[in-house]
Amino acid sequence: MKLAVIQGDGIGREVIPAALSVLDAFGLEIEKVPLDIGYGKWERTGSALTDEDMDIIKECDCVLFGAITTPPDPNYKSVLMRLRKELDLYANIRPFSPLKKVKLPCNTKEFDFVVVRENTEGMYSGIEELHDDVAYTTRVITRKGSERIAKRACILASKRKKQITIVHKANVLKSDSFFRNVCTGVAKRNGISYSEMLVDAMAYDLILNPQKYDVIVTTNLFGDILSDEAAALVGGIGLCPSANIGDRYALFEPIHGSAPDIASKGIANPIAAILSVKMMLEWMGRTEEALSIGRAVDSVLQQSIITPDLGGSYSTKNVSDAITGLV
Ligand code: ATP
Repeated sequence: MKLAVIQGDGIGREVIPAALSVLDAFGLEIEKVPLDIGYGKWERTGSALTDEDMDIIKECDCVLFGAITTPPDPNYKSVLMRLRKELDLYANIRPFSPLKKVKLPCNTKEFDFVVVRENTEGMYSGIEELHDDVAYTTRVITRKGSERIAKRACILASKRKKQITIVHKANVLKSDSFFRNVCTGVAKRNGISYSEMLVDAMAYDLILNPQKYDVIVTTNLFGDILSDEAAALVGGIGLCPSANIGDRYALFEPIHGSAPDIASKGIANPIAAILSVKMMLEWMGRTEEALSIGRAVDSVLQQSIITPDLGGSYSTKNVSDAITGLV
């Protein structure tokens, strides 16, 4: 197994080494390929990600990604968007459930749901026009894109409660009525029951009744927004991992960004990155190791070995060392 490691910028350079120290504790045969990609490289060379970098990444099986600061250049093209497109990482999967001892922001009951977001088209199709007095973004929803994301959601649902919630705005957008119809067809063919929610109603209900949901499938922009909302529900952006999955490659990343405000202070919460490694191990079929990370994270939280974002005073390294010692 060959793993491309992109620490990126800011706290990416702190949380990815922390996550790798946990991975290394298992002594698995994983060849790591470090790549210097991101804002720092863009400042030095004018390019955040080169074609040569892309070739190296394509020789790997998967990527562990930290975070990249967006350069202040209107012509800058997002590294992550390019990776998602060129590696065809069409499914963005973000699990959400409360972690031990983490104070939840509202009176939330137990919940455990996964947002399955289409990752390559929709509002982020990249088809845009900027004129003096008007700007256009083309929202692209294809049958192929909708079918494969719905299928991913159904496969996941088949291992859980066998139900999906399709989130859309089909009462207004024709492209969403198309997405909804394709998803319902896939669900019926796969023997998965489905319900539907308009995205605005979903944004409201997810806060009040997160326990009602299991597998949520939606388009790119709606999934982007709902999953950040869900991060608030679990008590912090520093706790949430994600997987970007395609048929050939996969990329794992914490959902937070490069957090320049806390970079270089050694206080970033490494748990989102460590749980991203857990998702990577699940993808590799290393269930035992993945479960072991989950237990170690719970135990460290239980002992209140936590970084300042969760009200503690431990460092990034203290937390990752404690987790490494328990896996
Ligand atoms: P970028 O421009 O890369 O998206 P950002 O600061 O705009 O960076 P995030 O990195 O997602 O966006 O950070 C949002 C807020 O959450 C910041 O105040 C940041 O300090 C905090 N934050 C993000 N990740 C972590 C983390 N792992 N640990 C602690 N705080 C975090």
